[in-house]
Amino acid sequence: MKNRIIIFALFTFLILNAFGFSQSDTLVQNLETRLQDQGLVNIHTLAPDILVELKYSTTDNFLNADTYGDLENCYLQPKAAVMLSSAQAFLKQSHPELTLLVYDGVRPRSIQRKMWAIVVGTPSQDYVANPDRGSVHNFGSAVDLTLATNDGVPLDMGTAFDYFGKLAQPRYEQQFLKEGKLSLQQIKNRELLRQVMAQAGFQGISIEWWHFNAVPVKIARSKYQIIE
Ligand SMILES: [Zn+2]
Repeated sequence: MKNRIIIFALFTFLILNAFGFSQSDTLVQNLETRLQDQGLVNIHTLAPDILVELKYSTTDNFLNADTYGDLENCYLQPKAAVMLSSAQAFLKQSHPELTLLVYDGVRPRSIQRKMWAIVVGTPSQDYVANPDRGSVHNFGSAVDLTLATNDGVPLDMGTAFDYFGKLAQPRYEQQFLKEGKLSLQQIKNRELLRQVMAQAGFQGISIEWWHFNAVPVKIARSKYQIIE
């Protein structure tokens, strides 16, 4: 009987190892190795104090799906990673109590295809780039982020990340301020994020307060390959 229990335990262990934990670990290692092989840098190697919470590695996103699996690190092109660590340094100079909190960096095309499959034919389709052409995230040159206190509490930016409505669009901020739909503090928080990102050379966009490009779309397309 005892032998049987031992054999059963051993068998269970082997099965779990073969198809469970070790498999997902291996998948993440493979993905990270693939990103490194394509020249990308884990931003924590340059700025360990930047907080990273990849939203697509959770179900707390507009897809309600975890398309990143166990990937928890933010990878970027070396130029973008250096710029992001500068943005963190600029922020720390003026606001040591705050930190950048990154929601997304590179988005490999394999994952872009998963996202596309979820949204194609739905109203959310407009918010996901077609993987054939790719977005700046697919080139490893865009970052989605906010500001947070050092213990990880995000500042109030007026909307959540990936809120797809006008309230998230910087181009309407003054109008929403007048209408009382955004507070002065919320706009100041966004302005501080834009200021440190611009200081480091990033360009914001007029339709999402959280998105910044390290290089313009055209340059990304001509200079880099889509990350697979
Ligand atoms: Zn973005």
